Amino acid sequence: MTTLMSTYPEPSVTFVKGSGTVLVDDHGKEYLDFLCGLAVTSLGHARPEVVDAIAAQAATLSHVSNLYDTTLRHDVAGIVDDLVSAATGSHGQVFFANSGAEANECALKLARKARPGRYVVISTLSSFHGRTMATLAATGQPEKHLAFQPLPPGFVHVPFGDLDAAQAALQAHEVAGVLVECIQAEGGINVPPPGYLPGLERATREAGALFMVDEVQSGLGRTGQWFAFEDEGLSPDVVTLAKSLGNGMPVGACWARADVAEAFQPGDHGSTFGGQPLAMAATRATLETMVALDAPRLANEASQQLVAGLLDIPGIEAVRGRGLLLGAALAMPIAIQVASAALRHGLVVNAVRPDTVRITPPLTIKPEEISEGLVRLNAAMQDAMEECS
Ligand code: PLP
Repeated sequence: MTTLMSTYPEPSVTFVKGSGTVLVDDHGKEYLDFLCGLAVTSLGHARPEVVDAIAAQAATLSHVSNLYDTTLRHDVAGIVDDLVSAATGSHGQVFFANSGAEANECALKLARKARPGRYVVISTLSSFHGRTMATLAATGQPEKHLAFQPLPPGFVHVPFGDLDAAQAALQAHEVAGVLVECIQAEGGINVPPPGYLPGLERATREAGALFMVDEVQSGLGRTGQWFAFEDEGLSPDVVTLAKSLGNGMPVGACWARADVAEAFQPGDHGSTFGGQPLAMAATRATLETMVALDAPRLANEASQQLVAGLLDIPGIEAVRGRGLLLGAALAMPIAIQVASAALRHGLVVNAVRPDTVRITPPLTIKPEEISEGLVRLNAAMQDAMEECS
């Protein structure tokens, strides 16, 4: 028996090292990583700039309390603000956390503080915002709520893509904020109909609520823009980030426009580790490298080859998503079998839905790695279709 709590299915592979797009297991077998730790290692494994930054920082100062200042967190907040303000036209402030759930937890608390007297947050069905009690309550997957009742009150879910339903909910409640993924990731790589998100932003503003965008999985170049919200020219009040922010170092961030962020006063929120030097060194190196490489361009270029190749594989009916946040929609609900056959063929992907394989490789993936990965996925598809026929 393992001494780990069984919160995940029994793993079938043990990885021991990685470099770029390649992972190696404990038997020395190599895999192409088309999943990236769920969209985390966007610059690939053991990216030298990030490795060097972590090693140098570990040898200098690994941690001090947020009661004292360090320089790195100001640098990183500045880079995050530069990226978000270039997209929204507004400057803001950043709170650093250690995960996506914590970044969203900050957003949820900020919405209540910035809109006093209101506490309802509207989010969408099939969304995923985290596993803490409040972010689980915001997550629009009622089956995940069942065992943990009562969850914190004040969360209302509306169907994703249905503007009328959102407007009705905004009228029915005193809403502090709306929290939405521009592309639902864990929910199955779901892209809403054009016009939905701008309509949602408008309706949210008309109701006097905060428009909060969860870019934890979609942010930082992955969708072919720095942020998925840019696709339809949105200007959110709050943006949450995590996943690829530290290229594997646990770090999350909640950015809020300056007039919203100022609602927080000392003592309102905090984190022992949030913004600590080791995480910030990794994050600064990650963001500087992403900027230098033009991360969105990398995602767009790789996406064209990858999507075209996926659509050529028998059994894949369509590809959802943008850039390198992709879901291969299968003709049959055999995604679990495809993911495990892919491992046998030396390819890491996952079943995000019974009929959808998630494909989120590093943005730095090379054309020849895409070609080889497609060959392996094709073989995995054939195995799975035979196994299930
Ligand atoms: N928000 C989104 C959109 C996510 O995809 C996830 C994780 O998959 C989270 C929040 C939660 O992030 P974490 O697992 O780091 O708490």
